[in-house]
Amino acid sequence: MGIVDRVIANSVPAIPRPVVRRISRRYMAGEDLEEAIGTVRDLNKQGCVATLDVLGESTKDRADAAGKLEQYKRVIDAVVENDLASGVSVKLTGLGLDLDEGLCRSNLEEVIVYAGERGRFVRVDMEDSSYTARTIRIVLDMHERHGNTGAVVQAYLRRSLGDVRLLAEAGVSVRLCKGIYVEPREVAYKGFDTVRQNFVLLLEELMKAGCYVGVATHDEYLVWHALRVSHELGIPKGGYEFQMLLGVDEQLRRILVEGGQKVRVYVPFGKDWYEYSTRRLKENPKIARYVAQDVVGGALGLIKRR
Ligand SMILES: Cc1cc2nc3c(=O)[nH]c(=O)nc-3n(C[C@H](O)[C@H](O)[C@H](O)COP(=O)(O)OP(=O)(O)OC[C@H]3O[C@@H](n4cnc5c(N)ncnc54)[C@H](O)[C@@H]3O)c2cc1C
Repeated sequence: MGIVDRVIANSVPAIPRPVVRRISRRYMAGEDLEEAIGTVRDLNKQGCVATLDVLGESTKDRADAAGKLEQYKRVIDAVVENDLASGVSVKLTGLGLDLDEGLCRSNLEEVIVYAGERGRFVRVDMEDSSYTARTIRIVLDMHERHGNTGAVVQAYLRRSLGDVRLLAEAGVSVRLCKGIYVEPREVAYKGFDTVRQNFVLLLEELMKAGCYVGVATHDEYLVWHALRVSHELGIPKGGYEFQMLLGVDEQLRRILVEGGQKVRVYVPFGKDWYEYSTRRLKENPKIARYVAQDVVGGALGLIKRR
């Protein structure tokens, strides 16, 4: 982590709550399900599909985890009632992984069955490396039992080639991303170019194995490689998809949609926006950098307009 990044990351707790709220608004679909459904409806009109994430990762007790399970059922109901093209993304810690793996499995299974009965897909987000092995194991089990479950692989992890082979062999759909957590060098590649190269390697491995890949990146170099590999392997548009975060590089999103590509937007919403935003800002000073650029850019814009 460079000095500027460290300074930005350490300053995060000092950012006033309303400022964090304003900054994060662009990346989140509000606090209520209604707002989130409105956002997904707009995205569908723009030709994108979505995946909805209910904010809040850690769970204090069983009641918390049960509450998250109920929230996901309400999300799935709303998606179905409004006839929207969207699945859901869940975090295993939100469903109780830190409390009891058995409880987490049973909560996850309930979400998956509920979603499956309504023709919806459940993507299990990947958290920090202390959860990777358990998450992969649980997703493989759920996929075997229910099908409508997908995994996430982080290209910065040294172990990911092995995970990709396991998941591809089992026919699990994989969202491939760079990874957002700060990990020690023992487990994760640190170089920007190395992570990119590993992303391309994993992408090729997955596509060659016939796996359905969600190419989750805003890095156009990687988008180009996904287009190249799919072209070389003769995989048609829709035989894979691009995935992007709400509020990030909407121009690239439009370009891909207009080019006939399938694009899924990750739509987080919920009352836990503050914790989520500050944790994200602290975990990844890169995001804080974008945010700082945003704020400075916005301020300059205001000055120019005056
Ligand atoms: C749909 C989706 C799901 C994800 N799920 C997970 C997950 O389960 N686990 C996990 O660890 N990580 C997840 N991530 C995050 C991912 O690992 C990266 O941290 C993030 O996408 C940034 O990497 P990048 O590939 O876009 O490349 P970068 O090189 O980081 O970014 C490329 C360009 O995109 C823009 N950009 C990227 N991110 C932002 C941002 N937040 N705000 C503003 N501009 C930005 C910048 O202009 C930057 O120059 C997910 C990402 C996406 C898109």
